[in-house]
Amino acid sequence: MIEKVLIANRGEIALRVIKTCKRLGIKTVAVYSDEDYNSLHVKQATEAYHIGEAAPAKSYLNQEKILEVMLSSGADAVHPGYGFLSENDDFANLCEKNKINFIGPTAKSMNLCGDKMECKAAMLKAQVPTVPGSPDLVKDAEEATKIANDIGYPVLLKSVYGGGGRGIRLVTNDKELAEGFESVTGESIAAVGKSAIIVEKFLEKTRHIEYQMCRDKHGNAVHLFERECSIQRRNQKLIEQTPSPVVDAETRERIGELVVKAAEAVDYTNLGTAEFLRADNGEFYFIEINARLQVEHPISEMVSGLDFVKLQIDIANGEPLPFKQSDLKMNGYAIECRINAEDTFLDFAPSTGPVPDVTIPAGPNVRCDTYLYSGCTVSPFYDSLMAKLCTWGQTFDESRTRMLTALDDFYIQGVETSIPLYKTILESEEYKNGDLSTDFLKRYNMIDRLTEDLKTEKEEKSKAAVAAAIIHSEYFKSQIKQNSNNSANWKNKL
Ligand code: ADP
Ligand code: ADP
Ligand code: MG
Repeated sequence: MIEKVLIANRGEIALRVIKTCKRLGIKTVAVYSDEDYNSLHVKQATEAYHIGEAAPAKSYLNQEKILEVMLSSGADAVHPGYGFLSENDDFANLCEKNKINFIGPTAKSMNLCGDKMECKAAMLKAQVPTVPGSPDLVKDAEEATKIANDIGYPVLLKSVYGGGGRGIRLVTNDKELAEGFESVTGESIAAVGKSAIIVEKFLEKTRHIEYQMCRDKHGNAVHLFERECSIQRRNQKLIEQTPSPVVDAETRERIGELVVKAAEAVDYTNLGTAEFLRADNGEFYFIEINARLQVEHPISEMVSGLDFVKLQIDIANGEPLPFKQSDLKMNGYAIECRINAEDTFLDFAPSTGPVPDVTIPAGPNVRCDTYLYSGCTVSPFYDSLMAKLCTWGQTFDESRTRMLTALDDFYIQGVETSIPLYKTILESEEYKNGDLSTDFLKRYNMIDRLTEDLKTEKEEKSKAAVAAAIIHSEYFKSQIKQNSNNSANWKNKL
């Protein structure tokens, strides 16, 4: 049984894992870089060890160093979080070899899931529909051009090792394809040291709908419902919600059955996510498996009532799932906003630096997973995700309005954030009506609408400020008058 977990990560996800471990009486070991000496995960873990310089390659990606800490601290398990080493099968292998329980799938299964081409091939074999595209890797731009002309532009060039929205390029003609081939290759090599490209039909006005998979070491599998993650920028998610407005009970069950098949096809164990695109005609196409705990898992926790980190630990301990599919019920509506440190108006460029003051929203059915505290720093070395703000409601609108209030309450001094953009989105008719697609921001000119909203807000604020100043000055005048009356009275008395 797992008694001491090393968390090979930082930020909000390290804190999230520590929370469940603490509750279960499991000891935790934090690791940190030069940059994270003052981070909350260092303070909240049972033990903490320095592992190197700020650059991820010198710390959070340094497998040997992390292994050294696992062995010296006596940790019997490792939780990789998301990003960093979480989908690195060499690392999972290293843990397996050293008898450290890796809380996630086996190295073999992870290796298969990490290659978008091989994974798609495994899905086709299991009769899970995938996005139409090249049947194999394309060896050069010339071959890609031929395939693109066969399936018809627009197409996507994708590195099979890409992730986090990187290593993907939309191209609409032969010239763009030649340039795109070079840039995808470069981006993938820069991110993971290798590149191999596939061509996929670009699906227009599509929705990103993913399913939570869950399979134990004995082959029992369930799905834990869907999440709709169509509000994105640069192929990265910004806002997620569950249930999806276009998934009814019949669809949920039908696609859910495919998801269980998908998990079996790659012999997946532990929690993972099967991502699909839903075309405008309602068809679902598998795109990839994320072989780890997903960033947006809290919204699924809210509607399922389960603690996913506990579930992960139980599965890693070899316990059989405590439920069958028919025991699982979806309850209510949950939304997540990824609060990023970025400047919406500078093409979402990261905004980093000290955060002298923070107010974190709270209240009934409001959950905020964050590493922020007054006096912390947002580092330029890591992901821009500062907080995940989640709300739950009995109805979608209850969850939405609760989110708007929570966004209003969230105060982060010192860096630019995505909060204003989210208010504009959540107040829009299109969002309210569930008219979602992965190009939502562009399709509905959300950035221009945000500019308008900010202008109105500024005008209202300055009107309010003038009104407040007048009231204040009237008050002072009356105080002065009162004081002079008082002193006159005193003088008369003397
Ligand atoms: P999710 O589907 O869980 O929301 P994302 O695709 O947004 O996951 O990725 C989560 C985080 O993991 C990203 O913000 C990014 O920092 C990191 N990440 C994922 N894949 C990669 C990769 N191949 N290279 C570098 N970072 C990655
Ligand atoms: P990553 O590993 O970076 O998460 P994915 O393959 O999951 O890459 O794709 C990320 C996003 O890119 C999707 O959520 C979707 O918005 C877009 N995308 C991917 N494939 C397609 C496609 N064939 N057609 C249209 N959009 C796509
Ligand atoms: Mg993806």
